[in-house]
Amino acid sequence: MSIEEIKTVAITERIYTPVKLTPGLETAFRDYERDRRRRETVFGLSLGAVFYVGTLPLDWMIVPDVRALSLVMRLGIGLPITLALILLVARPTCGDAARQWAVCIAALLCSLTITVAMARSGSPVAAVYLGGNLVILGFSINMVPVGTIVSAVLCCAISAIMVAGAAVSAAGPPGVVTTYILLGTLLTIVCVFANWCLQNERRRTFLTLLREEIRLRQISQQRDLLERLAAIDPLTGLANRRGFDAMVNGDLRHAKAGTPVCVAMIDIDCFKAFNDSYGHPRGDDVLRAVAEAMAARCGPGLRLGRMGGEEFAVAAVGTDHAALPAIGEGLCRAVEALALPHGRNSAGPVVTISVGLAGSWTTGSPLDTGRFFAIADEALYQAKRAGRNCAVVTVEKALGAGASVPDPSLPTDMATCTAPTS
Ligand code: GH3
Ligand code: MG
Ligand code: MG
Repeated sequence: MSIEEIKTVAITERIYTPVKLTPGLETAFRDYERDRRRRETVFGLSLGAVFYVGTLPLDWMIVPDVRALSLVMRLGIGLPITLALILLVARPTCGDAARQWAVCIAALLCSLTITVAMARSGSPVAAVYLGGNLVILGFSINMVPVGTIVSAVLCCAISAIMVAGAAVSAAGPPGVVTTYILLGTLLTIVCVFANWCLQNERRRTFLTLLREEIRLRQISQQRDLLERLAAIDPLTGLANRRGFDAMVNGDLRHAKAGTPVCVAMIDIDCFKAFNDSYGHPRGDDVLRAVAEAMAARCGPGLRLGRMGGEEFAVAAVGTDHAALPAIGEGLCRAVEALALPHGRNSAGPVVTISVGLAGSWTTGSPLDTGRFFAIADEALYQAKRAGRNCAVVTVEKALGAGASVPDPSLPTDMATCTAPTS
């Protein structure tokens, strides 16, 4: 269901303006209403049954000559059949047509049973009492959700029963038949109009709710899209700093204490000189090509992001530290293999990168990522000082409180540095 389809349907505040639904919306409306209509029908019929049985003492007072007949009609015929119909409607499998048929049968049956008893009474007020009963019954039908046409047919039928009952009543006051014809006509008009307004109002409410739901869904989709876009670097398509942090924090959240973790800081060598020589657009092409080459090299478990400028980062949670030199080395070679000419690179004739890797282990407490990145950054500077186009690995003990950034002047036995290609 699209907002465009709903937009084609005018929703005005005026109660008498018909809400015309398209066939698709009408089907959706019926689906939406089905369960509620079923529950309201069970409630309405049950209330009707209570009223039907509750008026028995009145029968005994007002028409005492037909007490026994009234008892048999109401408790012996009307009530059991109405209860059976309530049970039928209460079943979730009961369809809309069956539900409306059940309402019609119950209403007509109750009208007839009351009429039969009243018609046999010799009381002068029997016809008036019958009218009172059936007018209440006629109005009550509109508490039960039935279609406007069904409501019209039922009101006409109940009015006809009321008129016929008064006509054959043993002792009706003069003019009662004419009065009931007028009353029945009025009852039908009022009930059908009320029913139409109710149905119209329900369609209006349905449309309003549907519009609201679709708007909320659209807002949520747009929010998801914005969140995704806010986490992506538009130039390379890699995760940006925000997206990278979110990915790594997600991985860390699932990691048990003692899991090896690694972060690598990657920097394109002499990139300022590249831009100066070849221009920024070519520099952008290099950033894209380098990002693609590194993404292809990073297997599953390695997270890659662009930190800003010509700096990238890789993070791995759960990768053994023994693999770190190969990871750094692999990234360097993958970029070098692109063979993008760079006449002013001190590390060689093509575009190259330097990589600083820091390895550690998770502890029970949150990882000090700032310090971790600082160690990787320091390893990167070591790689730059070692001539660029190489990777340096520093493995720290668990980065809990008190762990310090290693002194860059001290040699690290895990450090690897490949000679730059000349
Ligand atoms: P080093 O080998 O020591 O890293 O030297 P470098 O020249 O790469 O480092 P420096 O920090 O001096 O220069 C980084 C350059 O990266 C400066 C800037 O022009 C360039 N840069 C940063 N972001 C972009 C970008 O989005 N596109 C392009 N084309 N260049 C960028
Ligand atoms: Mg830099
Ligand atoms: Mg650089």
